[in-house]
This record gives sequence, structure tokens and C-alpha cells, in this order.
Amino acid sequence: SAPRVLSIQSHVVHGYVGNRCAVFPLQRLGFDVDFINSVQFSNHTGYPTVKGGVLDGDALWELLEGLQKNDLLQYDYLVTGYIGSLSFLQKIVKVVEVLRRHNSNLTYVCDPVMGDEGKLYVPGDLPSAYRDTVVPLASILTPNQYEAEQLLGSPISSFEDAERACETLLARGPHTVVLTSFSPENADASAIWVIAATSQQQQGQGSSKVKLRIPHIEGSFTGTGDLLTALLLAWLHRLPGDLPGAVEHAIAGLQGVLRATAESCRPLVAASGTREQVCKARELCLIQNQGLLEAP
Ligand code: ADP
Ligand code: MG
Ligand code: MG
Repeated sequence: SAPRVLSIQSHVVHGYVGNRCAVFPLQRLGFDVDFINSVQFSNHTGYPTVKGGVLDGDALWELLEGLQKNDLLQYDYLVTGYIGSLSFLQKIVKVVEVLRRHNSNLTYVCDPVMGDEGKLYVPGDLPSAYRDTVVPLASILTPNQYEAEQLLGSPISSFEDAERACETLLARGPHTVVLTSFSPENADASAIWVIAATSQQQQGQGSSKVKLRIPHIEGSFTGTGDLLTALLLAWLHRLPGDLPGAVEHAIAGLQGVLRATAESCRPLVAASGTREQVCKARELCLIQNQGLLEAP
């Protein structure tokens, strides 16, 4: 039967970030997805205007109580992404605990969304809360470089640092860590690296490590990290014990969608001005390229 996922992420009416780029891809790949929208906004924050509302920790907990009273908490996976307040993050800790009481084999896929490129975009009390109370509960952790640096409290400059960062995070609880983007110091900007490690033993083999080079596509995109975390969940489930295969499938699907999205920007850039303006509000062409998720 289809594995059951609870996805707690943001929702946008238009566009693809948070639950909007996790729920559909997971469904497309055969998962039975329940989802809680931590916010409901008109669109992502790259647009000039954003309207909408935020779910607070008590409202989250009320939904969990409803599910619990109806005996609906048997999930195989929990996935969380952007979380905007300490009180909400503390409720997530309680959610993990209650889900583990219903299924001790629950896999918690935690994307510790905190910031990027040297900038924190969550309140200042979140990094230590992630480090001390959330990371120890996570099964699969998917930080970007900046987030891993926040969790470790030290910069990641070399490939050696990046490998060691994965090892250190593995020692804190998760069985799999994927550093979703990494640029070594003084490296050329033409590549992004994914570094991953797992302590989960394959039959007869030890732990495994992955280092994958991705050609940089010009322009910036939103929702890529959220989509990658969803695809990693899916492919780690489909290819158990094969970290390299799972990372490769997830990245290939994402890159396929990204390339198609970048391609679709081209006529718009030609017609209306700068690449910056067009691509800022450009949404992932996820529906048009859904076949790439299944067969990357
Ligand atoms: P976030 O910082 O949002 O968590 P990342 O920056 O780690 O996400 O990006 C996630 C993935 O998206 C990367 O591993 C890469 O595969 C892909 N990606 C994002 N931006 C680009 C780009 N400009 N060119 C190529 N791949 C990209
Ligand atoms: Mg990034
Ligand atoms: Mg991310």
C-alpha cells in the first residue's frame, strides 16, 4: 500500500514553494500525502505584494488532536520545511513525539530552513532550537551550506569540511544528511555540489558518502530546496540502502524541471526586460514537466 506522509509546510495560492512543491510531486510518485499548511499566502515573497495568514502553534496542535481522536496518526513519514517561529518549532517537536508513539518507525525528514548565502531569514532563536531539539529527532536532514554552518557553529570551506560536517551531523541523530548545495571557497561559480552521507548500513556494506557536481543554471529560482527535500524523501524510500542512486534520481528530476523552467523564461526575458525581473517571480514548471519526476 502507499506510504503515508504528513507534510507540514507553507502554502501559496499561486506558485510553487513549500507544500505546493512537495505534495504534488510526492503524490505523483505514489505517496499518500496528508498536509497541514503552516501559512496560506497569495504567493511567495519574491513578489512585490504578499497577503495571507499564519497558522500558530496552538492551531497546529488542535489539528493534531483532531487526527489523534480519530486514530489517524499512523504515518510513515513526517516532512517539515520553513518554520517561522520558535513556538511553532516547539510544537513540531511534540508532533514528532506523538507520531513516533503511533509508529516507532516514523521517518522524520527535516529541512532546517533558516537562511541562505550568509543571511538568516528566520528569528534568531531558531538555529539553536534546531540544533538542540530538532536535529536529534530527525531521520533525514537536508540543510544547505549556510544552514549546516548554523547548526555546526563553524564555516564549511573545503570539501573536507563538508564531509566532516555531514559526519558531525550524523553523530547527532539523523541517519542520513544531505548538504543540498555547497560551494567550496575560491571555487568557480559554474558548479554547485551536493554532499551527502548515511550511516544506514546496506547489506554487508558500511556507511556511504556521495559527492555530486551540478552545473549552475543562470538565474535564481524559488522552491528548489523544497522540491529537492520531497524528491529525496521519495527516492530514499524507493531505493533503500542506495544513497548515491537516490540522490542522483532526486537531483536529476529537479534539474530537469529547472532546465525546463529556465527555458520557459527565455521568451519573457527577450520581450520584457531583465532576466532578474522575470525570473524573480518565475515559478517552477512542475506540472508541465511532471514526467521528469518519475523518470528523471
Ligand atoms: P535552498 O537553499 O533553497 O534550501 P539549495 O540552494 O540548496 O536550496 O538548492 C537546492 C537544489 O536546487 C540544489 O541542490 C540544486 O540541485 C538546485 N539548484 C538551485 N539553484 C540552482 C541553479 N541556479 N542552477 C542549478 N541548480 C540549482
Ligand atoms: Mg540555496
Ligand atoms: Mg533547503
